[in-house]
Amino acid sequence: MDVFHKAALLTARIKVLRESGKTVGFVPTMGALHEGHLSLVRTCKQQNDFAVASIFVNPTQFNDANDLRRYPRMPEKDREMLESAGCDLLFMPEEKEVYPEPDTRRFDFGGLDSHMEGKHRPGHFNGVAQVVTRLFDIVCPHKAYFGLKDFQQLAIIKKITADLHYPVEIVSCPIVRESDGLAMSSRNRLLSEEERKQALILSESLFLAKKMKDRHTPQEIRKFVSDRLKAVAGVELEYFEIISGTSLLPVHTWGDKEEIIGCIAARVGKIRLIDNINFSL
Ligand code: AMP
Repeated sequence: MDVFHKAALLTARIKVLRESGKTVGFVPTMGALHEGHLSLVRTCKQQNDFAVASIFVNPTQFNDANDLRRYPRMPEKDREMLESAGCDLLFMPEEKEVYPEPDTRRFDFGGLDSHMEGKHRPGHFNGVAQVVTRLFDIVCPHKAYFGLKDFQQLAIIKKITADLHYPVEIVSCPIVRESDGLAMSSRNRLLSEEERKQALILSESLFLAKKMKDRHTPQEIRKFVSDRLKAVAGVELEYFEIISGTSLLPVHTWGDKEEIIGCIAARVGKIRLIDNINFSL
């Protein structure tokens, strides 16, 4: 695996690969890698001649300075994990390589950001759009791989890729979970032993909600999940929404024409976790 710190060198290397007819897949990450990230890299490697990954903790997508400061960083272990997952090229830039000038661009997500993460983390998706478009400009991949764990992020990335005419195919990858059901996340390593147990309430509530679907309305399930989380000291629900997978707006009936997703965000102690479940599968 070759490691690049300079954007121009990576761009030049990928240009040569593309000109020789090779396909290039790309997995952007913020590091502190786990099996969820590695599953993206393995899929990327299966579907392309070359797998490129990036590790960059993007400051413009953090609306909370403490969250940015606390974000786990473990570059050496990340390198080893990527290499063993079959990654060919790794981009680990300094901030000025990604943003030579402050990025003042403002994106329009057509309302996809009006609920959930967009509402609770103002500016977050604008920062995500800034970094993803900058990375696409540097890497020029044929395909890019994103996890369904960040369902709203994936919908927003698909939209900006289409709106801005990037010739990049966005590939959605399934959520990877720990054996007890907790969705893997870099933030899980910040949980104490006690919080790690409490964090299970997120995935357990989603699995229960899905089981209730045939006998209950979305409204009843919303109440059930929110009451369940409110009953646990140390866990603070930010939202639980049952939404259309297309518009990302809350649904009031199950219908059968569109995908319906249950999305949850909660703080366990100081650590903010998200998860979701597809009610339509
Ligand atoms: P992050 O490093 O958190 O920015 O995540 C980088 C990519 O990995 C994003 O596309 C995430 O959606 C994806 N990802 C993170 N956790 C998981 C998981 N548990 N399962 C699948 N994909 C994930």
